[in-house]
Amino acid sequence: MKAPALKPRKEFLVFGSPLIEEAEIAEVVDTLRSGWIGTGPKVKKFEELVRAYKGVKFAVAVNSCTAALHLSLLALDLKPGDEVITTPMTFCATLNAILHAGARPVLVDCGRESQNIDPALIEKKITRKTRAILPVHFAGRSCDMDALTLVAKKHRLALVEDCAHAVETEYRGRKAGTFGEFGALSFYVTKNITTAEGGMVITDDAAHADKIKVLALHGMSQDAWKRFSDDGYKHYEVVAPGFKYNMTDMAAALGIHQLPRVERYWSRRQELWRRYDAALQGLPCFLPPPPEPETRHAYHLYTPHIDVDRLGKTRDQVLHELTKLKIGTGVHYLALHLQPYYRKLLGHKPGDFPNAEFISERTLSIPLSAKLTDEDAADVVEALRAVLR
Ligand SMILES: *Cc1c(COP(=O)(O)O)cnc(C)c1O
Repeated sequence: MKAPALKPRKEFLVFGSPLIEEAEIAEVVDTLRSGWIGTGPKVKKFEELVRAYKGVKFAVAVNSCTAALHLSLLALDLKPGDEVITTPMTFCATLNAILHAGARPVLVDCGRESQNIDPALIEKKITRKTRAILPVHFAGRSCDMDALTLVAKKHRLALVEDCAHAVETEYRGRKAGTFGEFGALSFYVTKNITTAEGGMVITDDAAHADKIKVLALHGMSQDAWKRFSDDGYKHYEVVAPGFKYNMTDMAAALGIHQLPRVERYWSRRQELWRRYDAALQGLPCFLPPPPEPETRHAYHLYTPHIDVDRLGKTRDQVLHELTKLKIGTGVHYLALHLQPYYRKLLGHKPGDFPNAEFISERTLSIPLSAKLTDEDAADVVEALRAVLR
């Protein structure tokens, strides 16, 4: 294999590096100086900003999207053996949350281009034990929410949307995460907005929101959240064996400045996305299709699928060569049904989900953060052109 002739960048371009601005830095310092670094007023403010942005009645901050998914599923009171339908083309946290909630993940293949769960294949997988559908808006592309809502209604299934990629996603004018019982957001470092680690559950149901709040803090009654406030000590009651999932004000200090910039960052990523679309035409790779009509893409990941047959190199070779050119990449994702644990647990084998496997062998994610400069994006394009020559 001949090494690409292109000279590497000076500095490694970190994949998914967040854009952190001075306001966040000042807010974190302010939080430290205030003495209130745990769950407090800044978390409340961040919850209110996200609640208003999504146009929902309730938003409960937690310390990850994994926690948000776990608590959402627990709030559905799943019984052992209950089944939750989801996609093999997602992060392992989606399946782990289902397992930790005591249910069994049932996988349904995704579309080869949309990379989202294929609604037409869902009904065949519904059994007497199916309780919920957990769609993932892959890369920020909205799932077919009409079809999913229809099948969920018909079979009386709950809908829990994994919106880890989908803060800005909309489907027919409606925001992702608002179609079913719960939406789960991520503010992990690489996501569209970040609190370093963080997540949020959104819902319109007061009882559900209360339950999530209680479970997110040890299962202590609501008053526990106020027990260190200035209106005097309050006893709490433990009403469930809960978890330690609360967000801190240190994290929310980032979020309250990131959220107001969500549209600015989105515009920048859209610009980068269009630039990649134009510059990568004609190379031996399949580019992401344009957003579906009447949807808004969140542009979280740009994922060309390498045409390995035409190129005569594997995806992993491409990753390796890009790394040598100092371009950071990601892989979203290796199909989950072939990961050892799930493969054994769920009895899957190669060939079970052909589209997920097609993607799994070909996909790579190139940098798409709002932090990218035009020069960074030009470096990415040049490197890809050299490697896919
Ligand atoms: C990142 C991610 C998660 C988990 O988010 P955390 O906040 O890191 O727990 C879940 N699902 C998908 C699809 C993700 O990309």
